[in-house]
Amino acid sequence: MKSVLTILIILTWAIRVFSQQISAPLVKNNYLKVTSYEELTAFIKELDEKSDLLKTETIGQSVKGRNLYALKFSTSEFGKDKSKLKVLFFAQQHGNEQSGKEGALLLAQALTSPENKYLFDKIDFAIIPQMNPDGSEANKRRNGNSMDLNRNHLILTEPETMALHRFFDKYLFEVSMDVHEYSPYGEDWEKYGYRKNADVTLGATTNPNISEAIRNLSNNEILPFVLKYLADRKFSSFEYCPGGPPEIDYIRHSTFDVNDGRQSLGILNTLSFIQEGMNGKDDSIENIRHRSEGQMTGMLGMLKFIYSHKDQAKKLVAEGRKELITAKPGEKISIQSEHVRTGQKLSIPLYSYFSKKDSTVVVNDYRPVVKTITDVQKPAGYLIPKQAKNLVEWAGKHALVIQDFKMQKGLKIEQYFIRRIDSIDFEREIIINPVVEGTEFSGNILPSDYLYIPTDQLKGNLIILALEPKSELGLVTYKEYAQLLRIGETFPVLRVVKK
Ligand SMILES: [Zn+2]
Repeated sequence: MKSVLTILIILTWAIRVFSQQISAPLVKNNYLKVTSYEELTAFIKELDEKSDLLKTETIGQSVKGRNLYALKFSTSEFGKDKSKLKVLFFAQQHGNEQSGKEGALLLAQALTSPENKYLFDKIDFAIIPQMNPDGSEANKRRNGNSMDLNRNHLILTEPETMALHRFFDKYLFEVSMDVHEYSPYGEDWEKYGYRKNADVTLGATTNPNISEAIRNLSNNEILPFVLKYLADRKFSSFEYCPGGPPEIDYIRHSTFDVNDGRQSLGILNTLSFIQEGMNGKDDSIENIRHRSEGQMTGMLGMLKFIYSHKDQAKKLVAEGRKELITAKPGEKISIQSEHVRTGQKLSIPLYSYFSKKDSTVVVNDYRPVVKTITDVQKPAGYLIPKQAKNLVEWAGKHALVIQDFKMQKGLKIEQYFIRRIDSIDFEREIIINPVVEGTEFSGNILPSDYLYIPTDQLKGNLIILALEPKSELGLVTYKEYAQLLRIGETFPVLRVVKK
């Protein structure tokens, strides 16, 4: 009898010791303060040492020299098993959106527990919990250079965004999610009498050049699944709907710009998403437990959907990416678009400042569809002058395929003459709208003067959106490249097209 008791005591002790979980810093701190960079670093190290699934890769450094960590979960060598789906989540590009980082750390810890191990039978998963450590430490939106990282994914001037894209390009992830927070407390909303109140919102890609099959799966199946997954776990959820207040400004879905974390990867026909949790009123600690658990739950829901639809997701991305590298005669690429109404009204849940309760508001000016205004015929490639050093550097940062150009029969070279520069409304911002005339270029192309960037590559559509002078999303809309556009002169980037 005595020995049975001893065995029982030893067993209970053993179970307690071996099942002891490492706690995420937020939990250790009793939800009273957000996780510092030092605590995050120590926690990742501890988790990595304990878990066989996890390997940490330092993918770069912030402006102020802090490490950017990617936590890679795999049952085999990460990225090597071609049958697995490669999934990348990243959080806290905006330093004052703390729950993204906290949710990512809670998720990392949950993924090391035995009940979630099955996910990695089909998924190689990487998560970057903190894209902007300098902003996080100061609880500020921007990075150490005062740049908004989530507007930097096309020009890639910042070490943090460069590190992300280098890491993405290394593994060519098939699914991605960019995790943020939104702040619903604006004065205009208070005046309107309502504000947004969903714990977690989720959006997919909207750029019309992205594979329609990918956009359909995202909007028709993935978003509804994850939003319900959240609601079933007591987190209010709704589709990502920027804009408003209703009757003052229109409500739409996400931007179609390719300079953010979701669309810059989406344009490569990645299944790409944005998740936004609701921020606290004081920007950091208020309600942090619920906020972080909501973010974690949305991310876990996404992983579960992707796990159970692995083959379908893999096939859609492979087909979409094959289309990017297959030349189709007469293919058009949309370079200017607008958000338009369809006649459909949106019933949106909003918190009422009058009744102090959630209520439903019907939005009349709802613009769910992105419609092309201007498109161009997809060229075979572009010639960029080597003396345009910033363009050459830009091509290098995106690791574009660059070739030697040889003029062949059946090809012709076009150039744009810049007649004048008008303006156009782009999502409530007035930007440049060059009036251009395309003419045939009759000069000689010396390989010593030009780099040739073919468009039949994974980043083909990104290249077109970046290099067309009339593109609303183009490089010339950034001050760093504005000098390429001169009224009364020809545009220095040339188009190579099939006759
Ligand atoms: Zn954000």
